[in-house]
Amino acid sequence: MAAWIPLGYLGATALFILGLKKLGHPRTAPRGNQYGALGMLLAVITTVVDMGLSGERGVSWGLIVAGLVIGSIIGLVMAVRAKMTDMPELVALFNGFGGAASALVALSETWKYVEDPTIALPVGLDRQVIVVAAGFSALVGWTTLTGSILAMFKLKGGLEIRGTWYPTPDWGPPWLNPVKALMLLAVVMLILLSIGDPTNWIYLLTIVALSCLLGLALVLPIGGADMPVVVSLLNSLSGIAAAFTGFIIGNPVLIVAGSLVGASGLILTFIMCRAMNRTLPDVLFKAYGGSTREKVTRTKMGSDPEEVAMIMDGAQKVIIVPGYGMAVSQCQHQVKELGDLLYERYGTEVKYAIHPVAGRMPGHMNVLLAEANVPYEQLIEMDEINPGFPECDVALVVGANDTCNPAAREGEGPLAGMPILDVDLARTVVIVKRSLSVGYAGVDNDLFYLDKTMMLFGDGRAMMTELNSAVKDA
Ligand code: NDP
Repeated sequence: MAAWIPLGYLGATALFILGLKKLGHPRTAPRGNQYGALGMLLAVITTVVDMGLSGERGVSWGLIVAGLVIGSIIGLVMAVRAKMTDMPELVALFNGFGGAASALVALSETWKYVEDPTIALPVGLDRQVIVVAAGFSALVGWTTLTGSILAMFKLKGGLEIRGTWYPTPDWGPPWLNPVKALMLLAVVMLILLSIGDPTNWIYLLTIVALSCLLGLALVLPIGGADMPVVVSLLNSLSGIAAAFTGFIIGNPVLIVAGSLVGASGLILTFIMCRAMNRTLPDVLFKAYGGSTREKVTRTKMGSDPEEVAMIMDGAQKVIIVPGYGMAVSQCQHQVKELGDLLYERYGTEVKYAIHPVAGRMPGHMNVLLAEANVPYEQLIEMDEINPGFPECDVALVVGANDTCNPAAREGEGPLAGMPILDVDLARTVVIVKRSLSVGYAGVDNDLFYLDKTMMLFGDGRAMMTELNSAVKDA
């Protein structure tokens, strides 16, 4: 029976890799998710069977079954209750739980080895190696936990306590940057010191406390448009913490799965950095955030759907620019219906412009539009679609704001330097949103006030439904 254990882990690893491959395309992503979940199920079953067979670890089956049942119920309830718009916060929270779980396992295992010198260590490890791995696991795991919880509240925009709303700050005093660097240095020093004295618990507990503070200090000043970088970095860190822990408990599948999450999360982090035209050290230590939400003082008359339908009548090229508001109002089906109507009635060429950080999750717009069955070939990435805006008759912006805010072309402010969709170069701009209010980065948007811009004020779904009816009646 014991010979089947490595095979179980091998199967789980293969499913993780296959799942990652499938996640690379919106159409195959749901299948990728299923492969990943199946791999995790296989890994859990194999580990439980392994523990039962080895028998020597003083396994408490009651605790394991209770943990599995309670964890599954909590996960199920959270996933079922979460609305589509809550997904980014849920993902951030799960990153934090992943980091904390790894750090706790590493802590308890290390505690066991250090307290009882007679316990056999995993093959090839000695106590020094274990405390180093435990130190790094604690650094990464606890930083991920506190950083992710703060990131979750930032994505929500604040915290509600007894009916009072407390917005999360996205600023940090300038002295926080050297303090962050010092905390990181102190943790590395403590890890080095623990090698010489692996039974001294003060080192590990101080590392845990400093890492918790470091997570908060790293995420606190990040705001503006830089949150995508931080969310993908935290995702990567949760994997790295798992890999360190796998090393301590001698579990190959944890090392492999952790490394896969760590590596793919890092790739995503650098993709997000490139999308934002930032470097990672700049995001973490320079903090572009620092925004107060700008007050909107200008006014603009709204247009009506009939007027916009008349403009659409003569349009040969239309580019639809989806953003977070499309996700909030869940109007992707109405957006697709408009694209189909324009093509069927006037032969209009319709494309969808995808900004890499539109929405609140990497790939957010791709997933929503794929769900509405928009052909993948019509989703065009920013670099490819931007040269098309000057020839486009109508750019229809549905709930996007920061990702098409010309303020990003200026040298200052939370959006400074972020590449945007060149919507302002289109012949006519139509914007669907509820008001003139600012986007996530808190910067007022000149695009709304251009003479060629028509504002359709209202909820995305209601407004797109009205627009579709107006096009049908035109
Ligand atoms: P923004 O967040 O800049 O703006 C969204 C707009 O949608 C708002 O201005 C809002 O205006 C409008 N809106 C909200 N609800 C509705 C509704 N029901 N109907 C119609 N409109 C609505 O969106 P973008 O997608 O352009 O930019 C994303 C921002 O989020 C970027 O700054 C990005 O950096 C950040 N971010 C991205 C993450 C990612 O991974 N993609 C993660 C974290 C942050 P109004 O209130 O007037 O309706």
